Amino acid sequence: MTRAVIAFGANLGDREATIASATRELAEGQGIELVAVSPVYETPAITDAGVDHDAPGYLNGVIVVETALEPHRLLDVLQAIEDRHGRVRAGHWGDRTLDLDLIDFGGREQFDDRLELPHPRAWQRAFVLQPWLDVEPDAVLPGRGPVAELRAAATDEVRRR
Ligand code: AMP
Repeated sequence: MTRAVIAFGANLGDREATIASATRELAEGQGIELVAVSPVYETPAITDAGVDHDAPGYLNGVIVVETALEPHRLLDVLQAIEDRHGRVRAGHWGDRTLDLDLIDFGGREQFDDRLELPHPRAWQRAFVLQPWLDVEPDAVLPGRGPVAELRAAATDEVRRR
């Protein structure tokens, strides 16, 4: 079994209900055991032009699992859950009913056209680092260092819900 950290975000529709049902679906997945679900944070939308206070805000958090799956199979599961929640892909930074990102997979570093580990932007996102820290205070992001230090350096706004 490998420990994996998954980040969730939702900024459209009934965000709480979407996150609750996505968490349940993940926990019911074959070869996946839920270890921890973080507190949820309210965060402003971030686009390629910076913070967009006009866009609906996000609810963000992380889920820690133990899994027997390989990383690409876990990504398949995450994308199937996203699809079931009617995610609209309105561009790279578009609004979304549900976004699930694989942040860390047992400390692996790997890169291909479908999957980059650890997630390439996690190291600078308080909305990932803060909830991760809440459930794993000693976590380390491979290639980047302790999550606590990265969190201290991250400047995006997060507000505990
Ligand atoms: P996004 O719109 O940010 O959710 O990006 C989705 C795309 O990123 C998909 O095509 C994935 O194959 C790719 N991707 C690459 N690395 C990761 C990762 N660590 N977690 C989730 N998606 C990833």
